[in-house]
Amino acid sequence: MGLTPTRITTDIEYDRPGRQLGYLRLIHSDNRHAFSTIPIPIAVIANGAGPTILLTAGNHGDEYEGQALLHRLARTLDPKRVRGRLIVLPALNYPAVLAAARVSPLDDGNLNRAFPGDADGSPTAAIAHYAETVLLAMSQGAVDIHSGGSATVYAPSVYLHCGGGADLLRRKLAGARAFGAPYTVCAKATSDSRSMSAACDRLGVPMISTELAGGGTIDPAALEIGRAGLTRLLVHFGVMDGEAPAGHMHSTRLVSPLGAQSSVMSPTDGIFEPLHEVGAEVRKGTLAGYVHPLGELDRPSLAAEFAHDGIVLVKRVPALVRRGDYLYRLACEIDEKSLFA
Ligand SMILES: [Zn+2]
Repeated sequence: MGLTPTRITTDIEYDRPGRQLGYLRLIHSDNRHAFSTIPIPIAVIANGAGPTILLTAGNHGDEYEGQALLHRLARTLDPKRVRGRLIVLPALNYPAVLAAARVSPLDDGNLNRAFPGDADGSPTAAIAHYAETVLLAMSQGAVDIHSGGSATVYAPSVYLHCGGGADLLRRKLAGARAFGAPYTVCAKATSDSRSMSAACDRLGVPMISTELAGGGTIDPAALEIGRAGLTRLLVHFGVMDGEAPAGHMHSTRLVSPLGAQSSVMSPTDGIFEPLHEVGAEVRKGTLAGYVHPLGELDRPSLAAEFAHDGIVLVKRVPALVRRGDYLYRLACEIDEKSLFA
């Protein structure tokens, strides 16, 4: 990590009450941005004593439900409903958002693999560094809203990184239950240490992430699950006053992603014809879909089967596939006790 505190500047005054809409100014000098800065939109809504909660979307640029939710929240949430402070960034990796891409076109940076970042590093590293050392460092809770992106669609889920110790995990599970998505995916503590979730574990900040739907568009049903769930979570965190909405509330099912061996891979190059949607319950041997080898009319279509019992958590979106591409990923239901064993 560099010695510079941060090169990102802002006119936002984090301690000022009321609503402020502004920018983080990311310095990057290339052919396109010789003397300019890249303006990452940020809102701060503060009112009196209470916790600071960081809300982010656009960590990956092509995941849209969270960007829509937070853009609206930043403009419309009445500051009088806030107890403490909300810091809202609907397009955290703004260069990736502008490019409609998962990663930044400036440096190929995947922000969710860039933590703890580097103030003197590439644009993506500088954003990660600011998020960890400035934004998360002053937060008592965080919500990072993801979706499946252009390539995949997820069953609407809260996504928990199960690191940071038992006490932090209990607080994250309580937050997930308040959110009330149909599924809560519990990912192993050993998953990537360069993610924002891992940064939160290092800082002891309970972080609730999501995978709302995806496919490079906005799923209206997933958006409503996200909107109601986020409001309930903010009431649960104690940063928002008033009634928690009762709609779109699920008694969330805890699931664990099954390993790579339970993912269905394409048996050949061709066009994928899926037979199931996310949320489907399937058995070992259930037909998952067909891959049609379009370049060879004399070759029959190949069937792909599920190799395990499970719930379809992720489905591939683009029809054109190469041999080995993932078509589906499964999860299995788990007991809360198994997370603390
Ligand atoms: Zn993502």
